[in-house]
Amino acid sequence: MSTNTDANCIFCKVINGQIPSQKLSDDEHSIAISDLNPQAPVHILIMPKMHVASIAALDSPELTGHLFQKAKKLATELKLEKGFRIVVNTGDDGGQTVHHLHIHLLGGRAFGWPPG
Ligand code: AMP
Ligand code: ZN
Repeated sequence: MSTNTDANCIFCKVINGQIPSQKLSDDEHSIAISDLNPQAPVHILIMPKMHVASIAALDSPELTGHLFQKAKKLATELKLEKGFRIVVNTGDDGGQTVHHLHIHLLGGRAFGWPPG
């Protein structure tokens, strides 16, 4: 698996420790951190260690599966048995602001639908 990083990417800087974060998980391929601006009582970002701009740019089913399994595992560990939401904002219309793939894991309250 590629280990490329982008020197201008804030999440690459989080991954290499240049930017501090509250880490909830750290494994060979991914980290999970608390979101700086939480939108729910639980708001975690799960991201690959390699720089990849978005899910649209990721071709690896293994890494995709790894990230989703990680999100589910954290939801279990955090006892979000009433439910949770996984969001992957992608591109401009998708509301993506940080162009390093990340899964939002949100929980601890009920969410509405449709999303804004
Ligand atoms: P998105 O809009 O889907 O690209 O989400 C980017 C998320 O990253 C937002 O929820 C921000 O609050 C969050 N964020 C930005 N910078 C940091 C950081 N240094 N540490 C943790 N979360 C961050
Ligand atoms: Zn990056």
